[in-house]
Amino acid sequence: MTAATARGGRTASTSLFSPGREWTNWGRVERAHPALIARPTTIDQVVAVVRMARDRGLTVKAVGAGHSFTAIAATDGILVDLSGMAGLLAVDERLRRVTVGAGTNLSQLPALLTPFGLALENMGDIDRQTVAGATSTGTHGTGANFRGLAAQITAAVLVTAEGTVLHVDAGRNAELLPAVRLGLGALGIVVELTIQCVPAFLLNAVEHPEGFDEVLDEFWARAKSVDHFEFYWWPHTDRVMTKRNTRLPGDAPRHPVSPIANFVEERVMSNGALALMCRLGHVAPALTPGINRLATRVYGDREYTDYSHEVFTAPRNVRFREMEYAVPHRAVPEAVRAVRALIEKNDWRISFPVEVRAAASDDNWLSTAQGRASGYIAVHRHVSDDYVPYFREVEAIMRDLDGRPHWGKIHFQDAASLAPRYEHFANFLAARDRLDPERLFANPYLTRVLGA
Ligand SMILES: Cc1cc2nc3c(=O)[nH]c(=O)nc-3n(C[C@H](O)[C@H](O)[C@H](O)COP(=O)(O)OP(=O)(O)OC[C@H]3O[C@@H](n4cnc5c(N)ncnc54)[C@H](O)[C@@H]3O)c2cc1C
Repeated sequence: MTAATARGGRTASTSLFSPGREWTNWGRVERAHPALIARPTTIDQVVAVVRMARDRGLTVKAVGAGHSFTAIAATDGILVDLSGMAGLLAVDERLRRVTVGAGTNLSQLPALLTPFGLALENMGDIDRQTVAGATSTGTHGTGANFRGLAAQITAAVLVTAEGTVLHVDAGRNAELLPAVRLGLGALGIVVELTIQCVPAFLLNAVEHPEGFDEVLDEFWARAKSVDHFEFYWWPHTDRVMTKRNTRLPGDAPRHPVSPIANFVEERVMSNGALALMCRLGHVAPALTPGINRLATRVYGDREYTDYSHEVFTAPRNVRFREMEYAVPHRAVPEAVRAVRALIEKNDWRISFPVEVRAAASDDNWLSTAQGRASGYIAVHRHVSDDYVPYFREVEAIMRDLDGRPHWGKIHFQDAASLAPRYEHFANFLAARDRLDPERLFANPYLTRVLGA
């Protein structure tokens, strides 16, 4: 093991606690008023926070970047901000594994991994989340042969409700790995994570508009035909925007989008124009179908090749709310057609595209892709629009197709309806009982989805 390089953090003189102040998530759906905010920079300080919470009868919640749309990270007890425990702690170059502080942001990883010729195997569409937050909710990208970030976690160190430091890896407490890798923040405060990386690679991206029916009918064949396939369907149109990303060796020639074209595509079109479209659609809903048709003509017909993280992720400056369901991959065409029929039946005007992705099966107990190759269907609404009627009806469709909701995105299910959807739900609850019998890490969201 090569020695640790950097452990980010504040100086020891900085006070561990500060008075609580209002916390809100990125989607502005949830607010909370923590009693105290703790900013530990060492594992000992995390232990001290947990012990202090127990003594005072307060609950504790580690918070990442607040990018979950649900109240999964909300607390009125002690909010633990681990941004002072970020950075690279160790690298195993032979096994291509890195150990990082739990508060490390995904956007920090390329700079930490590149010197070792490493990269994350797959990523979602943004890099604002923390490693611990992303793995705790099952954050995923797309790719019929690729799994979510949690499946890449080979070891974790957490502080349990007892205030002890627990190592979970292949040699120590290995039976807890399928729970801890995707723990919803319910099992303890994760302080370190070891990630299985891959050799750094480039992605060749081909973005192209195509017909709704042909892409949907061939969804899984298309997902299997390329490393990373996804598409966006603009409601009220017959077109989808397909994205096909092919992995190339790290030393392949780069053909990045020029800075000006990138600015036009990502800032002006993807974000600026989308914001304008959403605002127009909000004040004059009748315009939405025409605006969406226009969007299918001006968006996404390009090809470029760049570093994997540059292609996987993009800025998201338009604030929205999202629900995402994983369904067995064969159910994707039926699910998307049902969403389309729902929008038409209700004569809703939906300005945000529906995003469809793919993932391989994995074995984390609460993974939305546990035990089955999956398709992901995500629906969105701009912050100024009421998301509840649309999301509730979409949820009814997905529930009938044996869907599982993303833990960090809006849904209305509870433990009773979720338990039968997960083969290992009871195993997860047993791990929770073992690690947090008094529910020090509970909050109302966890009580709803896991039970008291
Ligand atoms: C614009 C946008 C785009 C997104 N794109 C995708 C995507 O492409 N794919 C996808 O799957 N998801 C996506 N998401 C959802 C997002 O990845 C998840 O909600 C993720 O959990 C957010 O990470 P975070 O660091 O903000 O965690 P938070 O939302 O702050 O916390 C999430 C959970 O992790 C727990 N947690 C955080 N740190 C710790 C710790 N140290 N120890 C124990 N528990 C901890 C919290 O308690 C909470 O339970 C997106 C969200 C947004 C807003």
